[in-house]
Amino acid sequence: MNSPAPALRNDDGAPPDLRQWLRQLAATDRLAVARSGVSLIDELAAISKKLENASAVVFPSPGGHAIPVVANLFIDRRSVADSMAVPVGQLLARFQNAVRRPLPWIEVKDAPVQEQVHREIDLLKLLPIPKHNEHDSGPYITAALLIARNPKTGIQNVSIHRCQISGADRIGVLLLPRHTRHYFGMAEREGLPLEIALVIGVHPALILASQAIAALDEDEMHIAGALLGRPVEMVKCLTNEVRVPAHAEIVLEGRILPRLREPEGPFGEFPQYYGDRADREVIRIDALTRRRHAIFHTIVGGGMEHLVLGEIPREATLLEHLQRSFPSVRDVRLTRGGTCRYHLAVQIEKTSEGEPKNIIMGAFAGHYDVKQVVVVDADVDIDDPNEIEWAVATRFQADRDLVIIRGAQGSKLDPSSDNGISAKMGLDATKPVATGPLEFKRIHVKGIEAVDLATALQQEPLEALSRIIAD
Ligand code: MN
Repeated sequence: MNSPAPALRNDDGAPPDLRQWLRQLAATDRLAVARSGVSLIDELAAISKKLENASAVVFPSPGGHAIPVVANLFIDRRSVADSMAVPVGQLLARFQNAVRRPLPWIEVKDAPVQEQVHREIDLLKLLPIPKHNEHDSGPYITAALLIARNPKTGIQNVSIHRCQISGADRIGVLLLPRHTRHYFGMAEREGLPLEIALVIGVHPALILASQAIAALDEDEMHIAGALLGRPVEMVKCLTNEVRVPAHAEIVLEGRILPRLREPEGPFGEFPQYYGDRADREVIRIDALTRRRHAIFHTIVGGGMEHLVLGEIPREATLLEHLQRSFPSVRDVRLTRGGTCRYHLAVQIEKTSEGEPKNIIMGAFAGHYDVKQVVVVDADVDIDDPNEIEWAVATRFQADRDLVIIRGAQGSKLDPSSDNGISAKMGLDATKPVATGPLEFKRIHVKGIEAVDLATALQQEPLEALSRIIAD
């Protein structure tokens, strides 16, 4: 198992990039093109959202801009698997492999992303930046990889943050208490800015890799290289030391400013609510580099692309984390109803009583966003919410099988939490290891698998019925 998938290549041998993925989507009828000149305010997001389960969409001349916008690069798990050239059943294993055996990037001198350089920065004039959900504070860059350097070691971190356009060259950014915030804290304590780059328009594998729940000082771009089957080519920024993917469409070079906070938000987020307005970190942009005919990628906040994008890497990492301690764990799913972040279904081959409760505690420790865990047996399809509910309905007793932990760390974006202080709930919905022969025996109609409706049914039901109920 876990044999590496074939490397993704353009026909001309060039590194995989966003253009390659768009051509692949178009060739398989999964790319729509909107009419020219759609408004960047609300309308572009509305059309994208309408298509979020159907196809990617390209917007030519949005708001009169020369640069087109693309949205919906992922519409479901299968499109994510396709972007990495793996069957959907091997998606998590492929991602786990890449995290286990990262492939370091290499530095190059010439980069398509530096074909054009702008040093006079007016973000809304230079880029087609949409406003997405109704009560967002304004236009946001939502699909940029934020690359930051550890100020002491130069090791890079890659993550995605919501970026509010706060002025011509200013961006308000939400930094959750993870790696970018850690690096910024190191710089700010010395009174220094943190050098960063915002990278827009990359191959889906790079976006997925940025969402890996990696340890501090693990460069997510090494994981991207392993996903692609070849090292990512990186180039040094023109105005700072950050290295960025050479085959990206657009790069904003800048700094997170020390000892400065400005209002950011509200912004429509993955829990399907607005993240609040508060004083947050500020980025100043020093330069913009881009391809000659650049494409701008946007993600509608809380849309399907946003959910799926977070789902796969988190599942892979949670599965890896759980399997390290619990060999009985077979698969995990972050369910749609749980916003692909908060509710986890764990499928196990149960070997001993009590173990599901240990697995529940392990899952809570795997990521602070995980708020509810349901453990089910291997005969329950975790892609089907009805199956999971059925397991809870018939294999779970609240006084015996429920785990509650009070006052733990949770998601600050969960509006029912106390500013991120959250309770955790675990449900052991597995059947006992030892059962009587028909106890917990799932009903089954013999022969259903072999039924062929083409031969089992008559072709003309109206005619047949008139013979059966003849007057
Ligand atoms: Mn990281």
